[in-house]
Amino acid sequence: MRRGAGRPRVAAFLLIGQWIMASQARRFPPWLRKRIPPESQVQRVRELLARLQLHTVCQSAHCPNLCECFARGTATFMILGNVCTRNCGFCAVEDGTPGPLDPEEPARVAEAVASLGVKHVVVTSVTRDDLPDGGSGHFAATISAIRAACAASVEVLTPDFQGRWDCVERVLAARPDVFNHNVETVPRLYPRVRPQARYERSLALLGRVARVPGPPRAGERSGDGRGEAVTKSGLMVGLGESHDEVAEVMKDLREVGCQALTVGQYLSPSGEHLPVERFVTPEEFDTYRDEAEAMGFAAVAAGPFVRSSYRADALLGGLSPSVRS
Ligand code: SF4
Repeated sequence: MRRGAGRPRVAAFLLIGQWIMASQARRFPPWLRKRIPPESQVQRVRELLARLQLHTVCQSAHCPNLCECFARGTATFMILGNVCTRNCGFCAVEDGTPGPLDPEEPARVAEAVASLGVKHVVVTSVTRDDLPDGGSGHFAATISAIRAACAASVEVLTPDFQGRWDCVERVLAARPDVFNHNVETVPRLYPRVRPQARYERSLALLGRVARVPGPPRAGERSGDGRGEAVTKSGLMVGLGESHDEVAEVMKDLREVGCQALTVGQYLSPSGEHLPVERFVTPEEFDTYRDEAEAMGFAAVAAGPFVRSSYRADALLGGLSPSVRS
């Protein structure tokens, strides 16, 4: 008899705190328990990524939803390499001097998306302040390659491109369905959490994207305001922000026209990253969601395990047809 056979198949409950923050002597609340699927269900995505030599933010950022998302046959692709030119205090992605761009990467991402058969895909990247176009051309090439390979809708989760509008325009010209850029936290905490970013710059970028209609789709008239990408942003809570500060950020995002929002619990990837200041309760997340919906966001996901790409297909599916078209 095989060793282990006869044991309950899934007795696997993962207490996130025991592996993400092993170095921090802190007990995690019960709502941060997560049931994980068996490795056999996760393997298909892992093998595909390894074969195509692709990076995902799921793996690089130690996302707590990895097993769940991979078992559902989805992942968030991280393009432009796996080394970032910035060193945000919350992020597990390696920082340093990135290598040269891989011109074949867009085609391999497209092959993976087609192979997974997903209806919606999220593509993000490390920040590449070293590249003259910030990596925007590579984003556009990846969107185009996915479009040519399959019918999946495409969501891009971009860096701030240092506020350069020509870079954003290059991405928009490839017609992403969703343009996602995270503000990540409240402005007071930027120096600690995102020292090389600026809140106002991220907000302005989202506002400008929200105001610009894309080129007309088939059957549309130019300039009728349709065809623009859905704008989306997200923030982490539990970093020391107050409820009022989060509400103020949500208000700012609505004022610039942002349509979809995610709010999730920050979990420290290691003892060398920013510590968790507080575990936000599920009830507080419900309050954030209610407040955001009352402000007019067309789609909101708020919860302890929500990440900007978590079940992004469902969030997009929840948008009304007039917002999506
Ligand atoms: S939530 Fe996003 S980053 Fe995390 S595992 Fe799922 S797809 Fe990957």
